[in-house]
Amino acid sequence: MNEQQRKEMSQIIPGDAADRKSGQDKPLKEKTSDDFAKYFETTYEPPNINKARKRGRDKINVHYDFGIPEDIANIGEGKKFLIRTYGCQMNEHDTEVMAGILTEMGYESTADKNEADIILLNTCAIRENAENKVFGEIGHLKPLKLEKPDLILGVCGCMSQEESVVNRIMQKHQHVDLIFGTHNIHRLPQLIKESMFSKAKVVEVWSKEGDIIENLPKVRHGKIKAWVNIMYGCDKFCTYCIVPMTRGKERSRKPDDIIQEVRHLAAQGYKEVTLLGQNVNAYGKDFEDVAYGLGDLMDDIRKIDIPRVRFTTSHPRDFDERLIEVLAKGDNLLDHIHLPVQSGSSEILRKMNRKYTRESYLELVAKIREAMPNTTLTTDIIVGFPNETEEQFEETMSLVEEVGFEAAYTFIYSPRDGTPAARKKDDVPEEVKKQRLYRLNDLVNKQSAESMKTYEDAVVKVLVEGESKNNPDVLAGYTERNKLVNFKGSKSSIGQIVEVKITEAKTWSLNGIMVENTVEVN
Ligand code: SAM
Ligand code: SF4
Repeated sequence: MNEQQRKEMSQIIPGDAADRKSGQDKPLKEKTSDDFAKYFETTYEPPNINKARKRGRDKINVHYDFGIPEDIANIGEGKKFLIRTYGCQMNEHDTEVMAGILTEMGYESTADKNEADIILLNTCAIRENAENKVFGEIGHLKPLKLEKPDLILGVCGCMSQEESVVNRIMQKHQHVDLIFGTHNIHRLPQLIKESMFSKAKVVEVWSKEGDIIENLPKVRHGKIKAWVNIMYGCDKFCTYCIVPMTRGKERSRKPDDIIQEVRHLAAQGYKEVTLLGQNVNAYGKDFEDVAYGLGDLMDDIRKIDIPRVRFTTSHPRDFDERLIEVLAKGDNLLDHIHLPVQSGSSEILRKMNRKYTRESYLELVAKIREAMPNTTLTTDIIVGFPNETEEQFEETMSLVEEVGFEAAYTFIYSPRDGTPAARKKDDVPEEVKKQRLYRLNDLVNKQSAESMKTYEDAVVKVLVEGESKNNPDVLAGYTERNKLVNFKGSKSSIGQIVEVKITEAKTWSLNGIMVENTVEVN
């Protein structure tokens, strides 16, 4: 389906709305989107997880003609917006795009919800507790909406791609005005207009990904570090994960568009870019006309005059030799690789559909270490996957030690509706899962503290991001290997890369003193 067809389809007016009585007395769990369609006279296109799961061969087009229609160009003048962001960097970056669109429409940003004319909750669906937080926030905003009926309260991001979430909002949170999906962000101007002028809720969630829309405006958070999407979606279908359904199929941006964006950021004075994708190692696999992968892209970006380049997230399966060879060249490519392993047990990895084993992961780590002996490795780990045995958990613990991860994001498995793992019976009690998480965290903390100790008395290069959150007299920034450093130094160094002598190592951060000369950058 192309962009034009989608736009036309989103103007659905259910002709038989009044006749749709079925489902009126069903419990919420049994209600489908059809049961809610009767309330709509304007846009109502709810998500469908089965459609979202399908992978078609439709060609993905790239559009360079994004613009705000004249009749809504200044609709936001004198008004303010607030976006609350939950979840990963991808969401943070989507928020920057939405802020860009709203700013072009004349809105100004505010941090005070009482001042806002639009509040958007950009949500995360990865775990149940992330979703609970959002539902809590929707509840907290109800009195404000009652007080200010013209306030537009919107829910977007990954949760809005889930049918059960949309149905729950329809049923229990009548004060939400607007729901739109991750593939509908570029339609924000039209959706806001619709929301302003129609009395009904507006729901537009495309279940299948759309085309790639370039040149969307962005208001970036800060002037030092920037995110750059290199691809969208995920085709890996790990059995626990909702992302392939909320973010659609893998679509890579064209190399020239990415390179131009990074060059532009460098010219604006940004010091660091992080290349973003759910699975950046699959970059380029969807190109039909050229063989150009992440290694090639990194090799081209390496030549751009920007001091630091990071990338996230890597999937071990697609981490190829070409990428290792390019990363080993160094320069602005940093000595830190985040390589989620999820489990140390080959049997659990098979059940997770990760398509690698403990052994092949360790082989990959050995190759990386051989090419880049100084690299810091960090990871993501899930404990308590359905029916994980004590032995299998111990395999995770031993792998963490063997690799020597210096940090890890650790999670208790959270069943997600619509994923294969959620349909499995699980014999591991919640208390056992919690105990495993504590044990794993103890080990990760110990390894982090040990790695930090090795920096005592060393001089490291720190990109200074600003004042420390806890103490305005202290500056904070990150080393090339992604260690947080708090140090005493001159405020004029904010935005610069400076040398800091480490005086004290803590578990998750380093303390130090700035060495007088700032580092010459590139
Ligand atoms: N694409 C990345 C990869 O493959 O490693 C990760 C993206 S996901 C947003 C971030 C992390 O959330 C995953 O690495 C995984 O550890 C965790 N995660 C995903 N689904 C989960 C679930 N159902 N329960 C607990 N943790 C989950
Ligand atoms: Fe989720 Fe797996 Fe895709 Fe990562 S690679 S986003 S964990 S399905």
